[in-house]
Amino acid sequence: MLTAGQIVLICALGAVAALIIFMVVRTLLTKKKVIETAQFRPLNLDVDSIANNLSKAIQIPTITVISPEQSYEPFLEYHKFLEETYPLIFKNGEKTVINGYSLIIKLTGSDESLLPVAFLAHQDVVPAPKKGWEHEPFGGEIKDGFVHGRGSQDMKGQMIANLEAMEYLLSQGKELKRTVYFCFGHDEEYTGKDGAKQIVEYLYENNIRFECVYDEGGTVLDGKMLGIDGKIALIGTCEKGYVDYTLTSTISGGHAASPKRISAVDTLAEAVYMLRSIPMKAYWSQPVKDMFKDLAPHMKPLFKFIFVNRDILSPLLKLLLVKIHPVGASIMRTTFAFTQIKGSDAPNVIPPSATAVVNCRINIGQTQKDVEKHIKKVVGKNIKLDRLTEGYDPSPVSDITSEPYAKLKKSIVEVFPDFIPVPYPFIAATDAKHYYKICDNVFRFTPFELTPEDQKRIHALNERCDIDALATATQFYVRLIENTCM
Ligand SMILES: [Zn+2]
Repeated sequence: MLTAGQIVLICALGAVAALIIFMVVRTLLTKKKVIETAQFRPLNLDVDSIANNLSKAIQIPTITVISPEQSYEPFLEYHKFLEETYPLIFKNGEKTVINGYSLIIKLTGSDESLLPVAFLAHQDVVPAPKKGWEHEPFGGEIKDGFVHGRGSQDMKGQMIANLEAMEYLLSQGKELKRTVYFCFGHDEEYTGKDGAKQIVEYLYENNIRFECVYDEGGTVLDGKMLGIDGKIALIGTCEKGYVDYTLTSTISGGHAASPKRISAVDTLAEAVYMLRSIPMKAYWSQPVKDMFKDLAPHMKPLFKFIFVNRDILSPLLKLLLVKIHPVGASIMRTTFAFTQIKGSDAPNVIPPSATAVVNCRINIGQTQKDVEKHIKKVVGKNIKLDRLTEGYDPSPVSDITSEPYAKLKKSIVEVFPDFIPVPYPFIAATDAKHYYKICDNVFRFTPFELTPEDQKRIHALNERCDIDALATATQFYVRLIENTCM
């Protein structure tokens, strides 16, 4: 006779065994999805000329204007350069200048029943410190297979590839069925409020809606860290929200030779520590679930088993993702980064108040209100919280069952056969977020395969663009335009 305890134990073991069998079967049944593609032969492009055009683009220092001492002159020069370099686009297209420096170029297609497609890029670049560059940052030097300089990646390289592709198609006598808009803002690196936002207002007032919008965004990652033989092409289907707060602690100061038990700096430091120690909850937003659902079939058996059974292994997996890599944490939760801190002006004066600025990137599914509530709760009543920037909530999530998404994936796989395109939440900011007002299908993808070393050069020293990658990106845009607009 079995005792009651033994019966419970056998039942428990049976349940565990059944669960494991269920998880194994589920893993075995998860198969790769085939993306229908057409044969794509590499084109005979004039790569030297493309590299040369990117070099010229870099030589015009279109640095984002954020202070009255700066000039908008380079933007006007840049417009002239584009018109001279891409005569067929400007001859066939209709140019509209928005707010002085942003550009819309409309190329009308033959079928007016089709909603247009928009390709976005920003003309502005971040500043380049004078020291530390191996090549002049605005010299556009071509050397060792690279075009060197500020903006070569972010994002003049992508803009030039896109325009080269259209100019090439027009030179081949190809005709557009669907209307194409190129929308080039001039202050993406500073919120896009004067550029992209105004472009969208103009289009909205003129009742123009887009079938889809393609912008910069997701990068290409080596799949190895997730047990994947191949490269992961991340397509941003949404982007996180943004807000900055100033935290202020006020306690009367005094002479540093006779400090009180607690100072404004002490309480501020404690608040900073608390907010870093008590982050907002990590969770699976829909884009993250979709990302792992599409990646799982490509993983090696153990990884596949874990990610196919993500719902069952959720607590463990969440912990791993958040702990292992900063990007893992960024896609799973709202992040807090302290970026500025200020106390006294003199080393021997205890300040009456101390401030710290925290930069918050809001996870999909949360809002600015949720973030503010969390910060207030964690830092307590003694810290004053002030909003520093206007901020915005996360964008809506674009539809991954839509045709524009399928066409983007198809174009990626046709030009980059070893890429695995998957959706994901873009963790930084782009101009694309403004376009949800006039479009449901907004996607972000950067068709450049960068080495981790070259990725680090973006917004930093020695930014450069690999000329072979530039040529392939041009081919990608040829294919994307053919697949979406012809
Ligand atoms: Zn950019």
